[in-house]
Amino acid sequence: MNLNSPVGTVPLVGPMYVTRLKKLNIFTINDLLHHVPHRYLDYTLISEIAKVQVGKTVTIIAQVDSIKNQYTKAGKKIQFAQISDATGKIDVVWFNQPYLIRNIKPGSNISLSGKAEWFGRKRTLISPEYEIVREGKTTLHTGRLVPIYPETARVSSKWLRGRISHLLPLAKQELNEFLPESVLKRQKFPNYFDALEKIHFPNNLEEADIARKRLSFNEVLFLQLKNAYRKIDWRQNEVVCKLKVDKNDLEQYESILPFELTKSQKRSVDEILTDLKKDFPMNRLLEGDVGSGKTAVAAAAAFISFANGHQSIFMAPTQILALQHYQTLKSVFDKYNVRVSLVTSQGVRGGPGKTDIFVGTHALIHKKVIFDNVALVVIDEQHRFGVEQRAHLITSSGKKFKAPHVLTMTATPIPRTVALTLYGDLDLSILDELPKGRQNITTWLVPPGKRKGAYSWISDQIHKKNIQVFIICPLIEESDKETMMQVKAATHEYQSLKKVFTLLKLGLLHGRLKATEKEKVMNKFKNGKIDILISTPVVEVGIDVPNATIMLIETAERFGLAQLHQLRGRVGRGKEKSYCLLFTEVKSRKAISRLNVLKKSLSGFELAELDLKLRGPGEIFGTRQHGFLDLKIANWQNTEMIKQAKDTADDAIKNQNKYSKLIAKIKTFNIAPN
Ligand code: ADP
Ligand code: MG
Repeated sequence: MNLNSPVGTVPLVGPMYVTRLKKLNIFTINDLLHHVPHRYLDYTLISEIAKVQVGKTVTIIAQVDSIKNQYTKAGKKIQFAQISDATGKIDVVWFNQPYLIRNIKPGSNISLSGKAEWFGRKRTLISPEYEIVREGKTTLHTGRLVPIYPETARVSSKWLRGRISHLLPLAKQELNEFLPESVLKRQKFPNYFDALEKIHFPNNLEEADIARKRLSFNEVLFLQLKNAYRKIDWRQNEVVCKLKVDKNDLEQYESILPFELTKSQKRSVDEILTDLKKDFPMNRLLEGDVGSGKTAVAAAAAFISFANGHQSIFMAPTQILALQHYQTLKSVFDKYNVRVSLVTSQGVRGGPGKTDIFVGTHALIHKKVIFDNVALVVIDEQHRFGVEQRAHLITSSGKKFKAPHVLTMTATPIPRTVALTLYGDLDLSILDELPKGRQNITTWLVPPGKRKGAYSWISDQIHKKNIQVFIICPLIEESDKETMMQVKAATHEYQSLKKVFTLLKLGLLHGRLKATEKEKVMNKFKNGKIDILISTPVVEVGIDVPNATIMLIETAERFGLAQLHQLRGRVGRGKEKSYCLLFTEVKSRKAISRLNVLKKSLSGFELAELDLKLRGPGEIFGTRQHGFLDLKIANWQNTEMIKQAKDTADDAIKNQNKYSKLIAKIKTFNIAPN
């Protein structure tokens, strides 16, 4: 049996099931075997009929005396059976399953698991799970811990159980152990096949638990090794353009900046420039809170590329951010005649002739821009780009087996253990401080009763200090994409706030606006022609408007802490004192105390760790990143296990002989990285 065969090759899995199983991300036999239960029903208590107590869940093994369809007074069909063992008789009732009388024949031995209740005046098993007892076969659906799986329409746990129990013994040959004995011993793990068997069909919960630990370890270990190999593969590439890093160039760059780089910016620039000198291309992730100054770090690399006579690409996830980078880079580099052009779906903007820095959106991939000479690719807000898109940009800008230096940047604070697993293919630079002079953003929780007061305080501040305000609309759906519902909510909010702030100029920003319209609104806000900008939660994390000093966030409780921190990072960029108002209607003490954490000045990383602890991995970004953090079996909260898997992965790369089976396995499996 080949574990990578399509699931449709399994007996009783026809085309309809193949389609349904796709919804559960089950495509191959291996996927089906690793579709693990999320809980178990305890049907282990086997009872004689005489001892069955009303209200208890039991399993009865007995003989079927009779079974028939009956009509109730209400005209419904019920299935009524009588069964007996040496100790007595009991009635069994099912509802609306007339086909049962074909499956359950009088005289056969049956195993039933369910609850006994009063039905009329008699002790009766109501809608129990059933299976015919066959000699020499253990029961699957009754009389044991019964696995309950993630299901989808018309794929029941019972069906999955049947298919998996059929496959397990057939696949045993292919499920050989691949970890060295020493690792199994150290981790106290069962072997691979036993773990897989016991996670589906455990004899007790301890067995299930240890099986889950082993399989979680596998999953994380595979991810880490996959990324480790990616890193090794990447380093086989030759760099497209060799760069010289001249100290003078760096000094020159620093001299054109209107500020001094922070310590962590300097350290990151250093790490990046060291990469640029190498024969193999850089593949580095620059992680830093909103406002930590990632652009200035990336621009240093672009300047070095320029000084070497090469081009750079700056790719941003949205038009507004692309425009902002374009404007920043243009103004910083103007003195040196660095030619910057903006490439969006609208077309190419910038001077005629050759370009030194291309700034743009996805359009960079699709537009037929000629990147003949690109030494550096910078990708901003990394998590919104898929691995494939990255790869695309790289191959389309480089020659075969040659790649440019790649720097990806993200403001999404990912806990370290998660980052080391998901981004194990990248080198990591971290900006862990904000530029000097940044003020703490004073954060308040605003209950419904104080809404009016907050609004009048805001308009007062605008009149007195001429500052500007962001208002983030309620988060309606958990999605990283902006939905129509979200757009409607924003538009509605905008209309009603117009009636509140009658003397002020309001602007509305959401993803469905035309690009030119968005740009107009953003520019108006940047130029102070809009007092209050109302926007959807998913629009433009990286916008830089120093005069905006108040941020108001609706339905704050729905966001993750790190995401609130990110949103709030749009203010506090100028000299004026900045404020963040978290509007919330929740009353639960837990929710309030979670939000109150934002009053402390924790970093995005600390908040992400906290969110991971408090609300689980889905909340690291507040909005769910589709597929990004999905693990099938393991849990990101289990940092200890993730660390141990990392140690094992590192060891495996170093001692390939010892881990030959594991490495062979990694190479045959297609484990989607993220
Ligand atoms: P992010 O990391 O969120 O992309 P930006 O690069 O947009 O941050 O920088 C945020 C703001 O901080 C910009 O206005 C930028 O000019 C400013 N800035 C960056 N580095 C420094 C620094 N070392 N000192 C003072 N201001 C800085
Ligand atoms: Mg940025």
